[in-house]
Amino acid sequence: MLCDYHIHTHRCGDAKGDYEEYIQEAVQKGITEIGLSGHCPQYFLPKKERTRQCAIPEEELELYIQEIEFLKRKYQDTMNIRIGLEMDYLPGKENDALPVINFYSWDYLLLSVHFLGDWAFDNPQYIHLYEGKNIEDIYRNYYRTVIQGIRTGYFQIMAHFDLPKKFGFRPSSPVEEETEALLACQKIGMALEINTSGLRKPVRETYPSFDILQKAHALGIPVTLGSDAHQPAEVGKDFDQAILLLRKAGFTHAAQFEQKKYHLYPLPAIKSSE
Ligand SMILES: [Zn+2]
Ligand SMILES: [Zn+2]
Repeated sequence: MLCDYHIHTHRCGDAKGDYEEYIQEAVQKGITEIGLSGHCPQYFLPKKERTRQCAIPEEELELYIQEIEFLKRKYQDTMNIRIGLEMDYLPGKENDALPVINFYSWDYLLLSVHFLGDWAFDNPQYIHLYEGKNIEDIYRNYYRTVIQGIRTGYFQIMAHFDLPKKFGFRPSSPVEEETEALLACQKIGMALEINTSGLRKPVRETYPSFDILQKAHALGIPVTLGSDAHQPAEVGKDFDQAILLLRKAGFTHAAQFEQKKYHLYPLPAIKSSE
């Protein structure tokens, strides 16, 4: 058993390829369960400003679900398919998020913080906005936002936990809010994702780092695996590395979600040829 719970879809403007290609790739890589997690509709923007870039348009949410439900039945003997969303969290917009959160009985919702105020801090287009800012302050602000998101209780899995490191900007030592965010996860019973897309980004390491994985393990926080695939070839990418890292951090199991409840499954053995 092995699950990839962070997979994007052509319903958001930024992912390529057909669902069935994603499924084929997962089968080839020995993945037994996938979760689709398209970017949520941009509920946080005025209707006129919403785009389909990095978001499923609100009017296509129903279609997104129908398409995956169809695949779920079609591939029921080959692949478990879960239906989720990657939800942006923006403080103060919780009520606007509710129609999306309550739209469907999602298997899980990923909690993502991609915005600090209106700064999309992980978008390479706005990398210049790091200039002149105190990196520690960015991390503090980020984790405080994460903590607020966790405490809503709306989400099951924390996505790319240490995302501000994407371009290599790091504080000299971890800010205390990092640990507070892990404690918030523990308290609310949320899982933490190990996201392999960081290996493909300038920082060249998984989200979160090994250090944070060790802390999460010590706190008894369960983990899920996610590739953050935006194209079929990225499904399950570098999962061998992720599994080795998880084991090194002390994990023997990962979590699988259905209807927002999780079960643990043993991490597979990694083939020595890899
Ligand atoms: Zn994301
Ligand atoms: Zn994503």
